[in-house]
Formats: sequence, C-alpha cells, structure tokens
Amino acid sequence: MNKIAQIFQSLDYGPAPEGPDQAIAWLDAHDRKFGHFIDGKWTKPGKTFSSDNPATGESLAQITDGTAEDVNAAVKAARAAFKGWSALSGYERGKYLYAIARAVQKHARLFAVLETMDNGKPIRESRDIDIPLVARHFYHHAGWAQHLNREFPDAVPYGVCGQIIPWNFPLLMLAWKIAPALAAGNTVILKPAEFTSLTALLFAEICERVGLPKGVVNIVTGEGGTGQAITAHEGIDKIAFTGSTDVGKAIRAVTAGSGKGLSLELGGKSPYIVFEDADIDSAIEGLIDAIWFNQGQVCCAGSRLLVQESIEERFITKLKKRMQTLRVGDPLDKSIDIGAMIAPIQVERIKDLMKRGIAEGAEVYEPDGQMPARGCFLKPALVTNVSPANTLVAEEIFGPILVAMSFRTPEEAVQLANNTKYGLAATVWSENINLALDIAPQIKAGVVWINGTNNFDAAVGFGGYKESGYGREGGREGMSAYLKPAWEKDLKPAPAPKIAAAKATNPLDSGHLDQTAKMYIGGKQSRPDSGYSRAVYDPSGKLVGEVGDGNRKDIRNAVEAARAALGWSTTAAHSRAQILYFLAENLDYRRDEFADRIKAQTGENGVEEVALSVERLFAFAGWADKYDGAVHNPPLRAVAAAMVEPLGVMGIVAPPSRPLLGSIALIAPALAMGNPVVLVPSAQSPLSVTDLYQVIETSDVPKGVINIVTGDSVSLAKTLAEHDGVDGLWYAGDAESSAMVEKVSITNLKQTWTSRGLYYDLADRRFEGDYFLAKATQVKNVWIPYGA
Ligand code: NAD
Repeated sequence: MNKIAQIFQSLDYGPAPEGPDQAIAWLDAHDRKFGHFIDGKWTKPGKTFSSDNPATGESLAQITDGTAEDVNAAVKAARAAFKGWSALSGYERGKYLYAIARAVQKHARLFAVLETMDNGKPIRESRDIDIPLVARHFYHHAGWAQHLNREFPDAVPYGVCGQIIPWNFPLLMLAWKIAPALAAGNTVILKPAEFTSLTALLFAEICERVGLPKGVVNIVTGEGGTGQAITAHEGIDKIAFTGSTDVGKAIRAVTAGSGKGLSLELGGKSPYIVFEDADIDSAIEGLIDAIWFNQGQVCCAGSRLLVQESIEERFITKLKKRMQTLRVGDPLDKSIDIGAMIAPIQVERIKDLMKRGIAEGAEVYEPDGQMPARGCFLKPALVTNVSPANTLVAEEIFGPILVAMSFRTPEEAVQLANNTKYGLAATVWSENINLALDIAPQIKAGVVWINGTNNFDAAVGFGGYKESGYGREGGREGMSAYLKPAWEKDLKPAPAPKIAAAKATNPLDSGHLDQTAKMYIGGKQSRPDSGYSRAVYDPSGKLVGEVGDGNRKDIRNAVEAARAALGWSTTAAHSRAQILYFLAENLDYRRDEFADRIKAQTGENGVEEVALSVERLFAFAGWADKYDGAVHNPPLRAVAAAMVEPLGVMGIVAPPSRPLLGSIALIAPALAMGNPVVLVPSAQSPLSVTDLYQVIETSDVPKGVINIVTGDSVSLAKTLAEHDGVDGLWYAGDAESSAMVEKVSITNLKQTWTSRGLYYDLADRRFEGDYFLAKATQVKNVWIPYGA
C-alpha cells in the first residue's frame, strides 16, 4: 500500500464540535420552560414534561402537555383567523411564506444546533439536509400560493387543519405540513412530537417576527392525548398525520364518518435492491445513507437489502468493511456519522426486536469501535440468515439495523420487495437503465430511487402505498391534499330510496320465460353462493325480476378474479380506451332495451340515463391515455418522473338511484385508470347492470376486469371494506354506513370515497373529469439521476 493510502486508512479524526452557545442562550432566555403558541401569543406553561438531549440524557426544557381546553383555544383562534387569511390574495400569502423561508435561512445554524440537541441527529444532517429543505419547502410553496387560482380553479381550502408530526425530522415535518396548508389558505394547529418540540417553538417565534396574522399558525405541544384531542375536535376540517401505522389507523377510525379531510404518512420497510451489474462502491455508499441516515429512524429507510446472489458475498464483505469506518458519537461533532437514538424507550424496543429476530435464527454483525460512555446510542448492525417471515424482516425497526437477503432473478427481487404490508419507498441499483426502469413501476411504493437514495424535494411528491398511508406531501399532489372542490359545501342530503310494498305477482305474468340474473365473476356468470335470490320491484310494488343475493363468498371470489386481472393496469392506455369505447358503442346499440329496463324498475324515462351512460363511457375512454404524470426538475442532478398508477383492485358500491348511470359513472374512471373492479350495483334496481353482462362480453373486456355481485349494498360493502385484497373502495350510501365503510377499511388502510348520505348528481358533467380519476389513482415518483 502506498503511503497516502496508508495515511487514509489510519487517519484519526480530531474532535470537531459545533458550538451550542446560541441554542443554550435561547433556551435560557425562555427560562427553559414553554407554553403553547396560540392566537399569536404565548400561553403560560401548564403541566409540563421534560424534553431531553438524547446524547447526554440532560433535560433541555420543560414542555407543556396540551389539554383539550388548549386545543379548543387553538381551534377557536385558527377558525377566527381563517376568514382573513383565506381572503388574502395568493401573492400576499406567498409573501409571508417567502419571509418565513428567509427567516429560517437567517437563523439556520441556530435551528440546526437546536434540532441536533433535541433529536440526537448528527449536526451534519440537520445543517446540510433538514434545515435547507425546510427553507426550500417554504420558498416552493410561496410560489404555489400565488398560482393557486390558476392551477386549481375550482378549489377552496379546507379551513382549519390539525397537523400531528413525529420526532424523526421535527422541523422538516413541520415545514412539509405548514407550508402547503398556508399556501392553500388554511390555518393550522400543529402538534410536534413530545420528544422534539423545541424547533417548532422557535419556528413560532419566526411566525411572530414575520408578522404572520395571529391565529394562522398555532403550536400546541403535548403527548398522544393532545393528538387525540386534535383528531376528535369537531371544529377541525382536515387532519394531516405523520407517524406510525398503528396511530394512523387509530386516527382513521376516529375520523371515520366525520367528513374531515385526512392524509396519512406512515411507516415503511423499504427495499434496497442491488443488481449484479450495479456500481458496487456507489451502491455501498448509497446504502450507508439509506439505512444509517438519522440512525435509521427514517420512515423510508432502505432497511431491507436485497442483493443479487451472484454478488452477495462480495457485496456483504465490502459492506462490513465500510461499516467499520462508521463513527458513532456526539451528534454535535461535525465528523460523526451516527448520532443518538431518540430515547431510551426506543433503544429498548429495538433490543427486544433484535432478541426476537436472533431467536428466530438471524445472525448479527456489528463493527468494532468505541461507543460513547453515556447517552442513547446503538451500534449499526447488519442482520443476515433471515427468511421473509423473520421479525426483523417483517417489522419496521426504526433504528440502525439493516437486514440482508438475496435474490436470483429480477422477478424474485420484485416479489421480495413487495412482500410487505408497507409501500413507502424503494431503491434500485443497476447500471442497466432498461432493467431499472422495468423494475421501478413493478414495485408498490410511492417513491422509487434509481441509483441513489433518500432524495427529497419540495417539488416532488412523497407518500406511501398500502399501509404506508395515503395523500402526498410536496409537489402538485401535496398542494391538492390541502384543497377541496368548492361545490362540495352545496351538496344536499340524498333522498331516501323509495321502497314500494311488494304486490303478489307471478314472474310468468310478463309473458317471457323465467329470467334469473346471476353474478358476473371472472368473465363468467355464476350462481350466488347463498342459493338465495332477491326480488326486484317497480315503484308500484310489482315484481320486475330477480337477482342473486350475494354474500361474503361471492365477494371473495370476485376479489380473487379481480386480483388475477391486475394485468389490466399494465395494458396500454390506448387499449383500455379502445375497450371503453367499445363498451360505449355496444351499450348505445342496445339503448332502447336499457331505457325500457330503467323505466320498468324506476318508473322513470330511461332514455336520457342511457345516453348519459354512453357519453360517460366515451368520456373516460378519452381520459385513459391523457390523465398522466409529469417530470419534475428538483435542484439535484436528477429528474423525478411522477407516474400516475392505479390503486389496484377497487370495490365500488353504486348509489340506489340511477341504476345504470350510478354504476357506469363510478366504474368508468376506475377502469380507465387500470383498476379491475368488483361492482355492487344498486340494491333496489340491479337489473340494468345484470343486463350489461352481454355488453361486457361483446366488448373485449378481459375476464376479471369487471366483476359484479348483486345483493344488499351495506353488507357487501362491509365485506369489501374488510377484505385485504381490495385496495380502494367507493361507497355511495347513507351517512351511517359510509362511516362504517371508512372505519372497517383500516384493516389494510384502503383508500375510500364515500358519499356520506349526500346527493352526488352523477349526471353532472363535473364528474366527467379528474374528480374520480384522482381518487382512482396514486402518484409514484421515480427519481432518475443523470450526469456522466
Ligand atoms: P407515533 O405514531 O408514535 O407518533 C407520531 C405523533 O402522533 C406524535 O406527535 C404523537 O404524540 C402523536 N400521537 C400518538 N398517539 C396519538 C393518538 N392516539 N392520536 C393522535 N396523535 C397521537 O410515531 P413516532 O414514534 O413519533 O414516529 C415514528 C413513526 O413515524 C414511524 O413509524 C415512521 O415510519 C413514521 N414516519 C413516517 C413518515 C412519512 O412521511 N411516511 C415520516 C416520518 C416518520
């Protein structure tokens, strides 16, 4: 080895501490005791708890544990401020956001040091990543505020937003929440995590300094109970939550039926896939960032290494060597790689998980090296010899622990990558761009990084699939999460369906042969599992026909058939359009017969409804190849392709009225975007949909893409909501059963739309556009680096 190489090997680091003086002076100036920031004023500290420096165990300050009354006061202030704030021009709001960005930059070092002291993350990260990204978010959203009316012409802000954030990126998560909310014209109550309230309180001072109108931003500190008071508060119009999947599910259950907007950014167990043709040294460096950034306490941490078998040994050997050079220690030291874990309780949790994983057969490698004598530290660890079922592979560890597995083929890599309830992020390393771009769309995750990792930018949406939550932060998608259609406030209650008293009639009275409509599952007509039928009556109570009474088993079969048809999502958009056009054509061909059937069931003239149904199919055929993504230009040497992807299998329960249009208006956007559907037609008048089987069969719809189960809407909706094979569920029905659907859907956090007893006039042409398209899709951002 030459001398220079030798020096590099043995080079020891001297201490390079960042000075905490200013941060300490700031804490002292507040007597190390804080109240809330409500209505532009500081409240007196109430019952407090300690916020500790995890690197030393020392208490930094006493923080007030917010009560229900505190939350109430904050909601009142935010409500009072909403009118004025939302009435400001976008330019005026943008100027405030711009001033906040400037102020954050001016005090960047104070924010960074305070963040590191409160959270334990290396100063290198808070200084170079967290705080610059905070400023970037406010700058970016200053622009959105000004261009809002042009870009979202029919949208209005929700009103008062309750925002609850975790401790791993305290100020950055605040920025992700507050910047878009304010840009859209909302006012907010933000609760920081109990471990890390300090930078949020310093941020409140920034709001004061820039003269933000009082009540626009309210910071209420506290523990889980304070969060509960926010999510349950009736005066809050939207909840935005970032945190664990368990708490996210609890919040979904509490908000079900309330009509509150909801976005959930939850946990992850993200795969880091290395193909044999990867630039291995770069992939190792990427992996160091993926899993040991912020001590692994990162929702999108690349915590599952999947490495191709042919390079596994070489890769693991190199990785272990690199791990030997990682330095664990004082987070205020600028040359430290791994800082302190957030709290002793988190260290204990991780140790317990490790014990369980080891008992199940895992082998653990830890590098040598010194650990600080005090404080909350853990060594980086590499876990091997694990199967997909091992606790350490399946559970989100949220610490510096990497689990490694190997794969042989790209198909196996995709299978392993998707073998998780989460879907937040993924990384793919390969020098073969064709392979990387083939893998990225197959991974069920909201973000995919190619030959890079942990890239974030305000212009690029971030958020999860599956149990990693829904909604996006950043970019256009993030803006739309803080806006709602202006017309929603004018919706009236839906009239109760008219159910006529049945008259005794003989099916043969019609003069036709006896007709019994069956289910339509997997491209075939099948009898109901129950062996029961449901009678269909006209408004006078006369029998019009009979359909099968679907049950749990029929839904299961239909979902299975739909899952087998998931290839529909990768069918070319042009082909999906052709099939929808063909459906329209074949329905139009039989319009008289369908109009008669509508009249027979509802007594209403069906001519217009059939014409509208044909037009709606035509409209969404037209959308199939147009509602697509964007390419973002983040300030890095990369582009991010925002790809619009279908949710997966969708359950759709049609409204009781408009027996044909009610179903067509909902399934057409879902199908256009590539979702196979399980449709439950109107319970009162299902014959318009059971008559569609022949239309479907003659229109080249692949089997399993449209499945139809007739029966009681509420009980079938419940079964769909409970089913983990259903990814999205739309339900048109009364308020009580809508709440049930939202609550039961927490099992796999399926995305829901419910009509909550309101009348959505599906004949209105506003439903011909992006309202349902947006709800049938989710955006995946694929980051692609460039540069020679
Ligand atoms: P957590 O769910 O325990 O707490 C998050 C926040 O919710 C805290 O402010 C907490 O006080 C509050 N809270 C707790 N119980 C509540 C309740 N019943 N109702 C309302 N609020 C309640 O999560 P954490 O331990 O602070 O953070 C770690 C988790 O956050 C990990 O699962 C991580 O993956 C996730 N996370 C996700 C993202 C993302 O963007 N998807 C980003 C960062 C962290």
